[in-house]
Amino acid sequence: MRWSQTFIPTMKEVPAEAEVPSHQLMLRAGLIRQLMAGAYTYLPLGYRSVRKVSEIVREEMDKAGAIELFMPALQPIEIFERTGRREAFGNVLFNFEVKKGDRKLHLALGPTHEEVITDLMARHISSYRQLPITLYQIQTKFRNEERPRFGVLRTSEFLMKDAYSFGASLEQLNAAYEAMYNAYCRIFERCGLKYLPVEADSGPIGGDASHEFMVPADNGEDFVVHCAKCGYAANQERADTGRVSQLPAKIAEAAAPAKVDTPNVGTIDQVSQLLKSDAKSFIKTLIYKADGKPVAILLRGDHTANEGKIRRATKAASVELADEATILKVTGAPVGFAGPVGILCPCFADHDVALITSAIVGANSKDAHLTGVIPGTHFELSETFDLRNGESSDPCPKCTGFLQIVHGIEVGHVFKLGTKYSVSMDATFVDAQEQSHPIIMGCYGIGVTRVVASIVETCHDANGIIWPLAVAPYSVQLIPLNVTDADVMKITNTIYGELTGDGIDVLMDDRDHRPGFKFKDADLIGIPLRITIGGKGLAEGITEVKWRTETVAKKVPIAETVAFVKGLIAEKS
Ligand code: ATP
Ligand code: MG
Repeated sequence: MRWSQTFIPTMKEVPAEAEVPSHQLMLRAGLIRQLMAGAYTYLPLGYRSVRKVSEIVREEMDKAGAIELFMPALQPIEIFERTGRREAFGNVLFNFEVKKGDRKLHLALGPTHEEVITDLMARHISSYRQLPITLYQIQTKFRNEERPRFGVLRTSEFLMKDAYSFGASLEQLNAAYEAMYNAYCRIFERCGLKYLPVEADSGPIGGDASHEFMVPADNGEDFVVHCAKCGYAANQERADTGRVSQLPAKIAEAAAPAKVDTPNVGTIDQVSQLLKSDAKSFIKTLIYKADGKPVAILLRGDHTANEGKIRRATKAASVELADEATILKVTGAPVGFAGPVGILCPCFADHDVALITSAIVGANSKDAHLTGVIPGTHFELSETFDLRNGESSDPCPKCTGFLQIVHGIEVGHVFKLGTKYSVSMDATFVDAQEQSHPIIMGCYGIGVTRVVASIVETCHDANGIIWPLAVAPYSVQLIPLNVTDADVMKITNTIYGELTGDGIDVLMDDRDHRPGFKFKDADLIGIPLRITIGGKGLAEGITEVKWRTETVAKKVPIAETVAFVKGLIAEKS
């Protein structure tokens, strides 16, 4: 492709609206343009990378035995009502009414396709003999994201590869899951991404039924706990905080806690400043409603509550923070002064609460705290639970190392669904004994456009993008130094013709600009290999060839340039 004939609107200035490197660079390198919040045009250069990533995804899906199909984005709202996801998605689901003749149709735009594909399979699968099967598509998804941001890292319309496995047994599910997991590793590797498969929410099957693939990046919106020693990695929300501590014995002769005045200070920060003590010696008492009934959740003062874990510990279907009236009822005090001593609801204590020997707690009366509170002595402690998010100083649950928090971008997700959708959409099969069962499903997503943004986010320097070869819009950029010089253009055109003839993607910067200007743009758009033709080199009979990451170019005889460049590409492929 000749630069003058395509459309690459590069920008010199860093656009003010772009906060993160990938957003800035994708705008500046002419890869994307915003139409409105959350909706982007992929310009020719950006779209080439999207297609390259899609093709890698497609090849690896096919290799893993998945079968491609293509489903409509436009869907009837009823299918979301059948699975209960109209409510679960809430505002995220784009849905609207349209008129058709004198009827009204209520439609949705697919945020994923579990409903559509399960409905399809329900109509066509009847016997175990037709299973297992995994189907996939690469298609546009619509989610009315609360906060679309960071360019195409989070948009309301984005390209996703979504795959769905259907099996007759847990073994078939596990085999499909493993095939997808391994395909994901190959995909992200081929895309040149550093990635971390992390244990995610376990869902209905339990165990390690779900993994997210995270790209470590400072601007990632997800938090992962990671042990550098053994490699354990989990979503912060899911991570085990490990150690069940020994329950403290009741001390018969212990002094009673002291009541101290803490007027108008209710937060742990404020009270710890006032009493000059560390947050770690506080027991934070949070009042939740578990299926509508008040419970007190006890955590060490510097820890944060994890609602998923609280839900599991209290065996409730739903939990939410209690309202002020409930807090007043169970503590006798306004918000900020709750404590476990004498509280009027069941308490659930985190494991680490048992390790505090002398604690500061809310006194369950306005403007007062208790100090010298001994867990198990001044309030009952017969069992402890894992109720909090993992933190960077926690011991690793798998080895003797310590956890650290890593920020990550979720680029993919594999999930053992079980029978949630097959039950609600009546997708069943009969086994060899003619017994009917719901089909056992898995789902597997990759954000294709987010992958492209993640590559830019993690592969760049101060001058621009550094594309990994496999996903670069073009592999080679030709820079003739002087386009008005017939000799220069003759050699450039010959090299261009030979490389493209061999199936190599080449961009020729045929614009009549100064070399410095063209080099700047070349660094910005980040094509992996650059061949410079002209100037002194031409007199010496050479071209200059360099990788985007190299500072010094290699001088290569003109006649050998094509073979040399093909060799470099072959080495990397
Ligand atoms: P997130 O937590 O980032 O909102 P999710 O967990 O809701 O994502 P999934 O339903 O697991 O997303 O979708 C599969 C993949 O689609 C994700 O791993 C991610 O790569 C991509 N994806 C999801 N939402 C978006 C979005 N708004 N913009 C771009 N890609 C997205
Ligand atoms: Mg996800």
